[in-house]
Amino acid sequence: MKVHHLNLCTMCPFGGRWIDGGSGGVLASGEMIVHALLVETARDGLVLVDTGMGLEDVRAPLRRLGAGFVVMTRPRLREEETAIRQVERLGFAPSDVRHLAVTHLDVDHAGGIGDFPQARVHVHRAEHAAAMRPLTANEKSRYRKVHFTGNVRWELHEAGGERWFGFESVRAVADDVLLIPLPGHTRGHCAIAVRAPSGSAEEWLLHCGDAYFFHREIASPPECPPALATFQRIIAVDDERRRKNAARLRALHADAGSRVRIFSAHSPHELRAAQVASVARETKSAT
Ligand SMILES: [Zn+2]
Repeated sequence: MKVHHLNLCTMCPFGGRWIDGGSGGVLASGEMIVHALLVETARDGLVLVDTGMGLEDVRAPLRRLGAGFVVMTRPRLREEETAIRQVERLGFAPSDVRHLAVTHLDVDHAGGIGDFPQARVHVHRAEHAAAMRPLTANEKSRYRKVHFTGNVRWELHEAGGERWFGFESVRAVADDVLLIPLPGHTRGHCAIAVRAPSGSAEEWLLHCGDAYFFHREIASPPECPPALATFQRIIAVDDERRRKNAARLRALHADAGSRVRIFSAHSPHELRAAQVASVARETKSAT
């Protein structure tokens, strides 16, 4: 089992440190990334956790992603950063990716689904329903039908598996990849737990999607730059549930932070830390 931490796109919304907690002024760009995992499993081929923006999104961003998303997040769309091109650079064929495990179906998580037509797409049933039959203005504006055309091989999941650190879990692709329902940001939003490669300091990786955005939101006491906090509140389908689930992640980090590496989809800080840990593990195992 090997896990690659990939950045599928860098987004540069205005807001500087009010977005990323760095040093930029309000008219500077804040840094947000799109953190995905490529998991080499022993028996189930490659599993891609979140798909970022796809090739067609890079070619026609306004049509595919919508003007609102493009203007607000200012994504630096590059073909070489799409998941399919990074899979190829790692020496695999796109058809080696047998499973996509998707935290939710917003454009920056589901845009790459169409680049892997042979893969099974694992998502929570409630999230699929929200994207196919959006009910509110929020849902109608956030999902893009163009990402779900063609013959998508959906595998819809509902809660009912074994508990995982006190959370509901759903076995998505084998015992090593689990969906953990964490609704709030969207109706069927999930975190995705992946068993950590051997030699890791932790036992599990937990990709939390958009359950929170800023790395210090899972610290005690939590912190979040103000513009990013406002954005999360406005975009949430159910903000009370989102905040409750963020509190559960904070408790998990406090209780089991040494056993579970927790990260969100958009934190550059957490992506770099995970990549540094991966390189250190590989260096150690090679010597
Ligand atoms: Zn997102």
